[in-house]
Amino acid sequence: MKNYLFNYFEGVFPIDEESDYYDIDDDFTINSLRVSLTGECNEECLYCHNEGISKSSKHSIDIENIISTIYSLKEFGLKKVKLTGGEPFLYKKIKQLIYAIKQIGDIDIFITTNGTLINKRIDEISPSLVKKISVSLDTLDEGKYRLITGKSCHSEVVKGLETLRKKNFNIEIDYVLLKSINTNKKDLLKIIDFCNLNNFNLQFIELSDAGDLNVYKKYYAEPINVLKKIGLDFDTDKYNNDRKIIKYKGIIITLCRSIKDVCLSSNGRCSGLRMLPDGQLTDFNY
Ligand code: SF4
Repeated sequence: MKNYLFNYFEGVFPIDEESDYYDIDDDFTINSLRVSLTGECNEECLYCHNEGISKSSKHSIDIENIISTIYSLKEFGLKKVKLTGGEPFLYKKIKQLIYAIKQIGDIDIFITTNGTLINKRIDEISPSLVKKISVSLDTLDEGKYRLITGKSCHSEVVKGLETLRKKNFNIEIDYVLLKSINTNKKDLLKIIDFCNLNNFNLQFIELSDAGDLNVYKKYYAEPINVLKKIGLDFDTDKYNNDRKIIKYKGIIITLCRSIKDVCLSSNGRCSGLRMLPDGQLTDFNY
Protein backbone atom coordinates (compact mmCIF):
# COMPACT_ATOMS: atom_id res chain seq x y z
CA MET A 1 0.00 0.00 0.00
CA LYS A 2 1.22 3.49 -0.79
CA ASN A 3 2.83 5.65 1.86
CA TYR A 4 0.20 8.36 1.66
CA LEU A 5 -2.44 5.81 2.59
CA PHE A 6 -0.40 4.97 5.67
CA ASN A 7 0.02 8.68 6.34
CA TYR A 8 -3.71 9.08 6.22
CA PHE A 9 -4.26 6.25 8.67
CA GLU A 10 -1.70 7.71 11.08
CA GLY A 11 -3.59 9.26 13.96
CA VAL A 12 -6.79 7.50 12.96
CA PHE A 13 -5.83 3.98 13.95
CA PRO A 14 -3.35 2.83 16.59
CA ILE A 15 -0.25 1.15 15.28
CA ASP A 16 0.25 -2.47 16.31
CA GLU A 17 3.78 -2.26 17.73
CA GLU A 18 4.59 -5.93 17.28
CA SER A 19 3.71 -6.17 13.62
CA ASP A 20 4.37 -2.52 12.71
CA TYR A 21 1.04 -2.39 10.87
CA TYR A 22 -1.95 -0.23 11.63
CA ASP A 23 -4.49 -2.01 13.72
CA ILE A 24 -7.42 -1.64 11.34
CA ASP A 25 -10.76 -3.25 12.18
CA ASP A 26 -12.04 -5.93 9.80
CA ASP A 27 -15.21 -3.98 9.13
CA PHE A 28 -13.41 -0.74 8.30
CA THR A 29 -14.53 0.36 4.84
CA ILE A 30 -13.92 3.19 2.41
CA ASN A 31 -16.84 3.31 0.00
CA SER A 32 -16.00 6.37 -2.00
CA LEU A 33 -13.10 8.43 -3.23
CA ARG A 34 -13.48 11.98 -4.48
CA VAL A 35 -10.57 12.91 -6.72
CA SER A 36 -9.78 16.59 -7.40
CA LEU A 37 -7.95 15.93 -10.64
CA THR A 38 -6.62 19.45 -10.99
CA GLY A 39 -6.64 22.72 -9.06
CA GLU A 40 -7.24 24.64 -12.28
CA CYS A 41 -10.60 26.03 -13.29
CA ASN A 42 -11.80 28.25 -16.13
CA GLU A 43 -14.47 29.89 -14.00
CA GLU A 44 -14.34 32.06 -10.88
CA CYS A 45 -17.45 31.31 -8.89
CA LEU A 46 -18.02 33.70 -6.04
CA TYR A 47 -18.62 30.86 -3.59
CA CYS A 48 -15.74 28.61 -4.73
CA HIS A 49 -13.82 26.95 -1.92
CA ASN A 50 -11.62 25.06 -4.37
CA GLU A 51 -11.66 21.94 -2.20
CA GLY A 52 -9.70 23.83 0.43
CA ILE A 53 -6.61 24.33 -1.73
CA SER A 54 -5.09 27.51 -3.09
CA LYS A 55 -6.82 28.79 -6.22
CA SER A 56 -3.44 29.50 -7.75
CA SER A 57 -2.51 25.81 -7.43
CA LYS A 58 -1.67 24.40 -10.85
CA HIS A 59 -1.20 20.88 -9.51
CA SER A 60 -2.69 17.93 -11.35
CA ILE A 61 -2.49 14.42 -9.94
CA ASP A 62 -0.40 11.87 -11.81
CA ILE A 63 -2.67 9.30 -13.37
CA GLU A 64 -0.48 6.49 -11.96
CA ASN A 65 -0.94 7.92 -8.48
CA ILE A 66 -4.74 7.86 -8.83
CA ILE A 67 -4.82 4.33 -10.22
CA SER A 68 -2.55 2.87 -7.54
CA THR A 69 -4.62 4.57 -4.83
CA ILE A 70 -7.81 3.10 -6.26
CA TYR A 71 -6.19 -0.35 -6.36
CA SER A 72 -5.20 0.04 -2.71
CA LEU A 73 -8.64 1.24 -1.66
CA LYS A 74 -10.40 -1.62 -3.43
CA GLU A 75 -9.11 -3.72 -0.58
CA PHE A 76 -11.25 -1.60 1.76
CA GLY A 77 -14.43 -1.88 -0.30
CA LEU A 78 -14.15 1.10 -2.63
CA LYS A 79 -17.22 1.23 -4.89
CA LYS A 80 -17.49 4.82 -6.08
CA VAL A 81 -15.03 7.34 -7.54
CA LYS A 82 -16.07 10.93 -8.12
CA LEU A 83 -13.91 12.97 -10.50
CA THR A 84 -13.90 16.67 -9.80
CA GLY A 85 -11.58 19.69 -9.86
CA GLY A 86 -11.11 22.60 -10.25
CA GLU A 87 -12.62 21.68 -13.56
CA PRO A 88 -12.10 17.95 -14.31
CA PHE A 89 -12.33 18.37 -18.09
CA LEU A 90 -9.14 20.46 -17.91
CA TYR A 91 -7.37 17.25 -16.90
CA LYS A 92 -5.75 16.03 -20.11
CA LYS A 93 -5.81 12.33 -19.28
CA ILE A 94 -9.43 12.06 -18.15
CA LYS A 95 -10.24 9.55 -20.88
CA GLN A 96 -7.29 7.26 -20.03
CA LEU A 97 -8.15 7.57 -16.36
CA ILE A 98 -11.78 6.55 -16.83
CA TYR A 99 -10.81 3.55 -18.94
CA ALA A 100 -8.19 2.52 -16.39
CA ILE A 101 -10.66 2.74 -13.49
CA LYS A 102 -13.17 0.66 -15.42
CA GLN A 103 -10.46 -1.97 -15.95
CA ILE A 104 -10.00 -2.27 -12.19
CA GLY A 105 -13.67 -3.28 -12.18
CA ASP A 106 -16.79 -2.91 -10.07
CA ILE A 107 -16.36 0.81 -9.44
CA ASP A 108 -18.94 3.44 -10.41
CA ILE A 109 -17.55 6.67 -11.84
CA PHE A 110 -19.20 10.04 -11.27
CA ILE A 111 -18.08 13.39 -12.72
CA THR A 112 -18.81 16.85 -11.32
CA THR A 113 -18.16 19.62 -13.83
CA ASN A 114 -18.96 23.26 -14.50
CA GLY A 115 -20.14 22.11 -17.95
CA THR A 116 -18.19 24.64 -20.01
CA LEU A 117 -15.97 22.08 -21.77
CA ILE A 118 -18.47 19.30 -22.36
CA ASN A 119 -18.77 19.89 -26.09
CA LYS A 120 -14.98 19.93 -26.46
CA ARG A 121 -14.32 16.68 -24.61
CA ILE A 122 -17.38 14.51 -24.28
CA ASP A 123 -16.67 12.50 -27.42
CA GLU A 124 -13.84 10.88 -25.43
CA ILE A 125 -16.31 9.35 -22.97
CA SER A 126 -19.31 7.10 -23.41
CA PRO A 127 -22.35 7.00 -21.08
CA SER A 128 -21.69 3.32 -20.36
CA LEU A 129 -18.49 4.32 -18.51
CA VAL A 130 -19.92 7.05 -16.30
CA LYS A 131 -22.74 6.50 -13.83
CA LYS A 132 -23.69 10.18 -13.57
CA ILE A 133 -22.47 13.62 -14.65
CA SER A 134 -23.34 16.49 -12.32
CA VAL A 135 -23.27 19.87 -14.04
CA SER A 136 -23.23 23.17 -12.12
CA LEU A 137 -25.98 25.48 -13.31
CA ASP A 138 -27.12 27.95 -10.66
CA THR A 139 -29.30 30.00 -12.96
CA LEU A 140 -30.88 30.06 -16.40
CA ASP A 141 -30.27 33.80 -16.67
CA GLU A 142 -27.08 34.81 -18.50
CA GLY A 143 -26.54 37.97 -16.44
CA LYS A 144 -26.88 36.13 -13.14
CA TYR A 145 -24.63 33.38 -14.48
CA ARG A 146 -21.92 36.00 -15.13
CA LEU A 147 -22.38 37.41 -11.65
CA ILE A 148 -22.02 33.97 -10.04
CA THR A 149 -19.21 32.50 -12.16
CA GLY A 150 -17.39 35.63 -13.35
CA LYS A 151 -17.56 34.25 -16.92
CA SER A 152 -19.88 34.38 -19.92
CA CYS A 153 -20.12 30.64 -20.50
CA HIS A 154 -23.84 30.16 -19.93
CA SER A 155 -24.65 29.17 -23.51
CA GLU A 156 -21.72 26.70 -23.62
CA VAL A 157 -23.08 24.97 -20.54
CA VAL A 158 -26.62 24.79 -21.91
CA LYS A 159 -25.32 23.45 -25.24
CA GLY A 160 -23.17 20.94 -23.37
CA LEU A 161 -26.20 19.72 -21.46
CA GLU A 162 -28.07 19.27 -24.72
CA THR A 163 -25.20 17.13 -26.01
CA LEU A 164 -25.18 15.01 -22.87
CA ARG A 165 -28.94 14.54 -23.11
CA LYS A 166 -28.75 13.43 -26.74
CA LYS A 167 -26.04 10.94 -25.85
CA ASN A 168 -28.17 9.55 -23.01
CA PHE A 169 -25.90 10.38 -20.11
CA ASN A 170 -27.46 10.31 -16.66
CA ILE A 171 -27.44 14.01 -15.75
CA GLU A 172 -27.91 15.97 -12.58
CA ILE A 173 -27.98 19.75 -12.26
CA ASP A 174 -26.19 21.22 -9.24
CA TYR A 175 -27.86 24.44 -8.12
CA VAL A 176 -26.29 26.31 -5.19
CA LEU A 177 -28.92 28.37 -3.37
CA LEU A 178 -27.83 32.03 -3.24
CA LYS A 179 -29.98 34.60 -1.45
CA SER A 180 -31.06 37.55 -3.61
CA ILE A 181 -29.69 35.87 -6.74
CA ASN A 182 -31.49 32.61 -7.48
CA THR A 183 -33.83 31.79 -4.60
CA ASN A 184 -36.93 33.65 -5.74
CA LYS A 185 -39.95 31.56 -6.64
CA LYS A 186 -39.72 32.34 -10.35
CA ASP A 187 -36.09 31.19 -10.68
CA LEU A 188 -36.67 28.03 -8.64
CA LEU A 189 -39.68 27.00 -10.70
CA LYS A 190 -37.78 27.80 -13.89
CA ILE A 191 -34.92 25.44 -13.07
CA ILE A 192 -37.37 22.71 -12.02
CA ASP A 193 -39.27 23.07 -15.31
CA PHE A 194 -35.99 23.04 -17.25
CA CYS A 195 -34.95 19.80 -15.53
CA ASN A 196 -38.37 18.29 -15.97
CA LEU A 197 -38.43 19.13 -19.68
CA ASN A 198 -34.99 17.58 -20.23
CA ASN A 199 -35.33 14.70 -17.79
CA PHE A 200 -32.43 15.90 -15.62
CA ASN A 201 -32.35 15.32 -11.90
CA LEU A 202 -31.79 18.35 -9.73
CA GLN A 203 -29.73 18.95 -6.64
CA PHE A 204 -30.30 22.04 -4.52
CA ILE A 205 -27.13 22.73 -2.58
CA GLU A 206 -26.82 24.73 0.62
CA LEU A 207 -24.10 27.39 0.39
CA SER A 208 -21.04 26.28 2.34
CA ASP A 209 -19.01 28.50 4.65
CA ALA A 210 -15.80 26.86 3.40
CA GLY A 211 -15.17 29.65 0.86
CA ASP A 212 -15.13 33.45 1.33
CA LEU A 213 -16.95 34.24 4.60
CA ASN A 214 -18.21 37.60 3.31
CA VAL A 215 -19.83 35.84 0.37
CA TYR A 216 -21.33 33.32 2.77
CA LYS A 217 -22.80 36.03 5.00
CA LYS A 218 -24.18 37.95 2.04
CA TYR A 219 -25.70 35.09 0.06
CA TYR A 220 -26.53 32.32 2.51
CA ALA A 221 -30.15 31.18 2.24
CA GLU A 222 -31.64 28.61 4.59
CA PRO A 223 -32.62 25.84 2.15
CA ILE A 224 -35.66 24.38 3.89
CA ASN A 225 -37.35 27.79 4.11
CA VAL A 226 -36.42 28.66 0.54
CA LEU A 227 -37.79 25.43 -0.87
CA LYS A 228 -41.01 25.67 1.14
CA LYS A 229 -41.81 28.75 -0.98
CA ILE A 230 -42.41 26.45 -3.92
CA GLY A 231 -44.11 23.70 -1.99
CA LEU A 232 -41.08 21.46 -1.53
CA ASP A 233 -41.04 20.26 2.04
CA PHE A 234 -37.79 18.64 3.09
CA ASP A 235 -38.43 19.31 6.75
CA THR A 236 -39.53 15.92 7.92
CA ASP A 237 -38.19 13.21 10.16
CA LYS A 238 -38.27 10.60 7.46
CA TYR A 239 -35.08 12.11 6.02
CA ASN A 240 -32.44 11.00 8.44
CA ASN A 241 -29.23 11.99 6.70
CA ASP A 242 -27.67 15.05 5.08
CA ARG A 243 -28.91 14.20 1.62
CA LYS A 244 -32.66 14.43 1.35
CA ILE A 245 -34.41 13.22 -1.76
CA ILE A 246 -37.94 13.69 -3.03
CA LYS A 247 -39.72 13.07 -6.33
CA TYR A 248 -41.39 16.11 -7.80
CA LYS A 249 -42.92 16.66 -11.22
CA GLY A 250 -41.35 13.43 -12.43
CA ILE A 251 -37.76 14.31 -11.49
CA ILE A 252 -35.64 13.48 -8.49
CA ILE A 253 -34.82 16.53 -6.41
CA THR A 254 -32.12 16.27 -3.77
CA LEU A 255 -31.35 18.74 -1.03
CA CYS A 256 -27.70 18.64 -0.11
CA ARG A 257 -26.90 20.26 3.23
CA SER A 258 -23.47 21.78 3.63
CA ILE A 259 -22.59 20.25 6.96
CA LYS A 260 -19.19 18.70 6.63
CA ASP A 261 -19.06 15.34 4.96
CA VAL A 262 -17.04 13.44 7.50
CA CYS A 263 -14.83 10.52 6.77
CA LEU A 264 -14.93 9.03 10.21
CA SER A 265 -18.45 8.52 11.38
CA SER A 266 -19.33 8.49 15.04
CA ASN A 267 -18.75 4.76 15.26
CA GLY A 268 -15.28 5.16 13.76
CA ARG A 269 -16.00 3.49 10.42
CA CYS A 270 -14.59 5.35 7.46
CA SER A 271 -16.81 5.87 4.42
CA GLY A 272 -15.14 8.37 2.12
CA LEU A 273 -11.83 9.95 1.22
CA ARG A 274 -10.66 12.83 -0.95
CA MET A 275 -7.58 13.03 -3.08
CA LEU A 276 -6.25 16.55 -3.65
CA PRO A 277 -4.52 17.79 -6.83
CA ASP A 278 -1.12 17.44 -5.14
CA GLY A 279 -1.86 13.74 -4.52
CA GLN A 280 -2.52 14.17 -0.82
CA LEU A 281 -5.17 11.89 0.61
CA THR A 282 -7.52 13.34 3.19
CA ASP A 283 -11.02 13.03 4.59
CA PHE A 284 -14.06 14.98 3.35
CA ASN A 285 -13.95 18.45 4.81
CA TYR A 286 -15.88 20.33 2.18
S1 SF4 B 1 -16.63 25.82 -11.39
FE1 SF4 B 1 -16.24 24.81 -9.44
S2 SF4 B 1 -13.99 24.81 -9.22
FE2 SF4 B 1 -14.54 26.28 -10.83
S3 SF4 B 1 -14.64 28.25 -9.80
FE3 SF4 B 1 -16.72 27.40 -9.87
S4 SF4 B 1 -16.95 26.31 -7.94
FE4 SF4 B 1 -14.76 26.66 -8.24
